[in-house]
Amino acid sequence: MSLLHIVCQNCDGINRVQSETLKQDPRCNACKHLLFINSPLKLTTRNFNAHMANNDIPVLVFFWNSTCPLCKNMETAYALVTSNMEPWIRVAKINTEQEQSLAISNKISMSPTLILFKKGYEVSRKTEQMNAGDIMKWITAYI
Ligand SMILES: [Zn+2]
Repeated sequence: MSLLHIVCQNCDGINRVQSETLKQDPRCNACKHLLFINSPLKLTTRNFNAHMANNDIPVLVFFWNSTCPLCKNMETAYALVTSNMEPWIRVAKINTEQEQSLAISNKISMSPTLILFKKGYEVSRKTEQMNAGDIMKWITAYI
């Protein structure tokens, strides 16, 4: 039994969740929203640091932009990764056109880029189109 800090995808509040109850649709103590909604969390300069610093679960981030056809191709795969891998990781995405400072601070030079973070530190990165099985196999080696 272990206690995990999970950041709410709605209010960015920090929750303490027993690992055994992660699969039981835990809700935020502060705002009562579900901590996981089976949809990638949209990260921005406003909430990026809170989720990087305060989540005990790894955070997977898909850096994408609207002019990238490979990113578009990966949308279905990423949705599948979200439904399969949450709540064991937090699945997130960042639009690099809207969040240019995050693209720069994370040294994004290609699209698509996937980065797996643990406790705010990058542990692995991929810069290629991947299917859901490949993504899950890749991140499972780090969690
Ligand atoms: Zn909340």
